[in-house]
Amino acid sequence: MSQQTVYTFGGAAPHDDPRQRDKTITGGKGANLAEMASIGLPVPPGFTITTEESVRYLRQGADFSDALRAEVSNALKHIEASVGKSFGDAADPMLVSVRSGARVSMPGMMDTVLNLGLNDATVEGLAKTSGDERFAWDSYRRFIQMYSDVVLGLDHGLFEEALEIVKEDNGFYADTELSSDDWRALVAEFKGIVEQEQGKPFPQDVTEQLWGAIAAVFDSWDSDRAKVYRRLNDIPADWGTAVNVQAMVFGNMGDTSATGVAFTRDPATGTRAYYGEYLINAQGEDVVAGIRTPQYLTKAARETANAKPLSMEEAMPDAYGELARVFDLLEGHYKDMQDIEFTVERGKLWMLQTRSGKRTAKAALKMAVEMVEEGLIDEEEAVRRVDPMALDQLLHPTLDPDAPRNVLTTGLPASPGAAAGKIVLDADTAEQWSQLGDKVILVRVETSPEDIHGMHAAQGILTARGGMTSHAAVVARGMGRPCVSGASGVSINRETRTLRIGDKELKEGDEITLDGAKGQVMLGIVPTVEPELAGDFGTLMIWADKLRRMRVRTNAETPDDCKMARQFGAEGIGLCRTEHMFFEAGRISAVRQMILAEDEAGRRAALEVLLPEQRADFTAIFEVMAGLPCTIRLLDPPLHEFLPHSDEEFSDLADATGLGVDHLKRRAGELHEFNPMLGHRGCRLGITFPEIYEMQARAIFEAVCAVQKESGEAPLPEIMIPLVATRRELELLRALVDRVAQEVFAEQGARVEYLVGTMIELPRAALMAGEIAHEGEFFSFGTNDLTQTTLGVSRDDSARFLAPYVDKGIFPRDPFVSLDIDGVGQLVEMAAERGRATRPDIKLGICGEHGGDPASISFCEKVGLDYVSASPYRVPIARLAAAQAALAAR
Ligand code: PEP
Ligand code: MG
Repeated sequence: MSQQTVYTFGGAAPHDDPRQRDKTITGGKGANLAEMASIGLPVPPGFTITTEESVRYLRQGADFSDALRAEVSNALKHIEASVGKSFGDAADPMLVSVRSGARVSMPGMMDTVLNLGLNDATVEGLAKTSGDERFAWDSYRRFIQMYSDVVLGLDHGLFEEALEIVKEDNGFYADTELSSDDWRALVAEFKGIVEQEQGKPFPQDVTEQLWGAIAAVFDSWDSDRAKVYRRLNDIPADWGTAVNVQAMVFGNMGDTSATGVAFTRDPATGTRAYYGEYLINAQGEDVVAGIRTPQYLTKAARETANAKPLSMEEAMPDAYGELARVFDLLEGHYKDMQDIEFTVERGKLWMLQTRSGKRTAKAALKMAVEMVEEGLIDEEEAVRRVDPMALDQLLHPTLDPDAPRNVLTTGLPASPGAAAGKIVLDADTAEQWSQLGDKVILVRVETSPEDIHGMHAAQGILTARGGMTSHAAVVARGMGRPCVSGASGVSINRETRTLRIGDKELKEGDEITLDGAKGQVMLGIVPTVEPELAGDFGTLMIWADKLRRMRVRTNAETPDDCKMARQFGAEGIGLCRTEHMFFEAGRISAVRQMILAEDEAGRRAALEVLLPEQRADFTAIFEVMAGLPCTIRLLDPPLHEFLPHSDEEFSDLADATGLGVDHLKRRAGELHEFNPMLGHRGCRLGITFPEIYEMQARAIFEAVCAVQKESGEAPLPEIMIPLVATRRELELLRALVDRVAQEVFAEQGARVEYLVGTMIELPRAALMAGEIAHEGEFFSFGTNDLTQTTLGVSRDDSARFLAPYVDKGIFPRDPFVSLDIDGVGQLVEMAAERGRATRPDIKLGICGEHGGDPASISFCEKVGLDYVSASPYRVPIARLAAAQAALAAR
């Protein structure tokens, strides 16, 4: 037997089928309506068509099945029996509302159709039974207007214009001034508009009206705005949406009727107080549409706001009392803050919707902690309750939500937070201007390692190209700099030092603001508010730490970042990318001399200069991280990334080295690679130029010995070899590291613990993990490169085509943001298993960007990794996500 596709609720409907309470089947709205009805709350009777049916409908090319038609017809009879009226009955018509309701609430979806079932005959019946002709004709015109907009796809402006003309002709100001005859005349005009626009009359057959609305809800799942919303909110295309058809109740039947929306607690601050708005004598959409200013729910709120119109508590004390009772019942039942829609029809309260309310991160923390204190939920539930990603809002300065925004263009939300300042077009200018006290935004086509100093000097970074794991994005997140990447609406003219953002022509020095969490680029300076790490935040983190199994480390390469990360709770460094240290001012020239040297002797001479600098870097980091594990990765990027580009840089280098510009350019040309990401990088550098890794290993060991001597407590260095594909590579380089360690220990008369391990970031390394584990004590999954090499998708070029890939459901999410668990995940799992088979105590972690992504962290828990590593600002997110993953794994 096929599954039931329509479920009734309210009236005498049974609610014992678990499928009906399952949001994945009946959608959020449908499941909660059934649940409210089952606990005895006043819910107008209705029915829900399942999400599965919408998926089927869309797959089958917009065709209703006979089974669906039969079930809907039965369900309509349920509503008719419950309210004692008939659908389409000219004497006493039953009217319904039709609403969409996906698994999660989606503001990008279809709007509501109200008053469905009205036509030229039933409107007369409604006028008689309600005793209010004006109400009946107003309801009919509202229906035509909504139906034409939502179902027939006509321009709603046409109807609004017609209404405006009537108001103007009569000198009316508000809709309430129109008489029943005015509305009747307007209905005739509206019908004329429909006929003219679509070439056929407005449907008079109520059954046709109903199926039209059902089809519109189904189709709305694939509307452009729903698709955009899905992409932004990681909602899979195959969820589909349910349809809810429900008997109408009227908030616009005079002054004893009203409609409103409410939250059981304040969704912005989390304060425990009823919060909401209502309107007397109004229909639902009036509250949201902002045509009339809604009134406060409670007397206290009205008094605080110093508002005149009476609150619901004062104006309708009985209905309000009933509503307050329902609020408490609902919170007690769902054990969470509820977002509610209600209607009062002639003094009687009806519940139209309840759902767990959206809230700011601050409110989420406050409510979770307070609900534990109230005994409503326990600590585990509180930890489950808070969305880890929402914490991001609290970890960066954010734009004042009340400030106006002039958005010029939108790119990828690469690194959250708000930044404002003057546009600068290159890294040196960024550094110079910021040294002079200016706040700057670095705007580049894309960034490369040589821009690091400029990125550091800038408040934020904007790039025209590049994806979520492009250089700009990764580095900005690591530094905690807001970043918008891949903003294709930006074009830069380097000659004139001007740029165009969206339609606006700008020049270097003009001011812009970035919203890294939304990917928005705005004109001028938008004011910000400082991050708040309030007490509730700390409390929840302590609860999370008690529950998680995995450790949380950070990706960091400066002492400041390390300090910040430790404040956020990092328990070690999971990835220190040493190449960033090569770009420090004053060093780059020695680095370039090293690269351009003709032979080993030349390289060693330049490395001698770098050694003390690197040692100082590591010493400063190790002092901050004493007692904790620190994974230091030896040099990874291809050497030519460090080379000069502009003529000026070449001539500076010529001066510094005494070599001719032509010679330098020739050497630089020799180092050019067609696919540098697959070229001479990672451990291949260590194999071909061992003296580079020797210098780095020496700097690390000398620094650990120094910190050990000075403070008595050293960190545990974990020396990591990047981009290994074969056992032999690691064998050779581990021997090199061990040899340098012995040399340093002998020189220093000291000895420290250390580990040598590798990144698993190539498919071959994952396949050969059992072999490779013989040579390394730990694996760290470099899932940025592993994603790039497994998918054959360049991490720096993917922005151009990944968004449509996600829209079309080819990838559920950007695989550089959230691990491709089905594909890349298999390699991770296999490598973990094979590594453990060889070396049961092998340490396993992840240091790709996915280490800060909750869904990926949940996967890491399943695979049994020992730790995840995230950029400093993501550490609290990772702590919470790791706790949630541990809870889910129980
Ligand atoms: C990785 O590839 O996942 C990684 C962490 O290294 P990088 O991003 O520096 O290539
Ligand atoms: Mg890598």
